[in-house]
Parts: sequence; C-alpha cells; structure tokens
Amino acid sequence: MQQPTPTFQLTKDNYHSREANQHYMSVSQFKQAMTCEAAMIAELKGEFTRPHSTALSVGSYLHAAFESDEAFAQYAEENHDSIFKARGGKYADYEKADEMIETIKNDRFCMFALEGEKEVIMTGELFGAQWKIKVDNINHQRGFFTDLKSTQELAKRYWSEKYSNYVSFVQAYDYVLQMYVYREIIYRNTGRYYNPYIVAVTKESPPDKAVLHFDSERFSFESEYIQLLLPSMLEAKAGTKNGHRCEKCAYCRATKQLESSFEIEYLLD
Ligand SMILES: [Zn+2]
Repeated sequence: MQQPTPTFQLTKDNYHSREANQHYMSVSQFKQAMTCEAAMIAELKGEFTRPHSTALSVGSYLHAAFESDEAFAQYAEENHDSIFKARGGKYADYEKADEMIETIKNDRFCMFALEGEKEVIMTGELFGAQWKIKVDNINHQRGFFTDLKSTQELAKRYWSEKYSNYVSFVQAYDYVLQMYVYREIIYRNTGRYYNPYIVAVTKESPPDKAVLHFDSERFSFESEYIQLLLPSMLEAKAGTKNGHRCEKCAYCRATKQLESSFEIEYLLD
C-alpha cells in the first residue's frame, strides 16, 4: 500500500485525498498514527472522519494569504460563509487571522524568510516508505525552506511524553519531526540539504512573531524516533496487522466494546 502505483499521479488537487494518503506516508499521517494507528487506518478506509476544526480552517486562510493574492481571493470566495458574518464583517477568528497576516507582512525579516516558491509538492523514499510533502515556501537559490506556524504564545510550555520534558510548541506539535522529514525529502529531490525555518506568529493581541532555526543535532533524535514507529504503521497500512488502538480518541470511544472491568488505579495515566 505504501508503494505508489504508476497509475497514481499526485497533484495539488488530490494531495489531501484518501487515495493520496493510501499511496503515501505524510507527516500528518505519521502524527495521527502516533496518537492512534486504528483511527488513522479507519480514516484511510473512509470509515471515520475527524471532526471539523475551525483552527484548521483559519490555518488554511493564513497560508493562502502568503501563497498568492489569487489563492487568498479564491479561499475567501470558496469559504465565504464561514469567514463573513451575514450582517457584514468577519468572524472573530478571521479578524484575528487578518491581524496575524498584517504582523508578518509588516516585518521585513519575516517576509525575507518567506521569499520563494509556495506550496511545493515533492515525494521521496525514507525508511522504506514513499512520503509526500507540501512545503509552504522553498528557496532553491539560497537553499532554505520555511513553514508558517501560528501558536498561542511563543514561550508557552507543554509537557511532552515523547521528549520526557517540558518543551516549546515546536516540539509539542512535532514540528522538528516535520522539518526533519521535509529536509530529507528535499535532499532526495535536489541533492542538497536545505536549512529549515519556521515563521511563527502568535494569536495574542497584538501578535508576536519569530523566525526560528534548528540545531542540526535535533534531527538525529527524530530520525531514530521515526525508524522506531514507522514499521508498525506501514504494517497496519498494508493490512498485515491491526492498527494499535489508543482507546481514548473519538474513533476508539465510538467503536469500543468492553470485555472486562479494571481497577480504579488505571483510570489515571
Ligand atoms: Zn484511538
């Protein structure tokens, strides 16, 4: 299932389709399977759909603003009713997003870090799987790529089981893992290791912003982490084993059938 068939051509239009996700591993699929393999497989089969998230739509709006004026106008037109109130003006989430867009546009360094080709799709092999990536911004002349991220505040701490430590939003949302995969797949396409950057903008009023780079030593941990978890995910995708159930997510709660009782001690993680 992870090998692309010659009949499947990955394009901008089918990039997020179920068929594309069946053929390719992606960072978002990997992250979903880190939480729950069973839910990831159910979604691939069309048996489960994740609930709609406003945060995700606002993220797409933000990205469209930096892709091109045409992409932004098209996004606003296609999602008119979720962006604009019937009585005029935009809903609060989009008013906030506009403020975040202005914050980035008014900072010359942020805009410098976002110079390049937008929404670039690439595929490549990594640890026995074919991956697909869509890079927010890539600059071949200067050898870097950029991802645009919104977050609550730059210095917020999150507890991470993965790192066994308090971490920033960048590790908490596995953006280091994302940058590692993108860097490897870009290398397979260009023969060069590009430098990853994150342009981060906060939802505060007024928004804060930062351009972040990564010490390359961080990537060896992510490489080992992916090699540890990927084989099981690929087996689940190939149907040679059942995906591991987390027993906590929406999919697991909806499909759970109890077989025994457990001692109250095990209620807490
Ligand atoms: Zn689950």
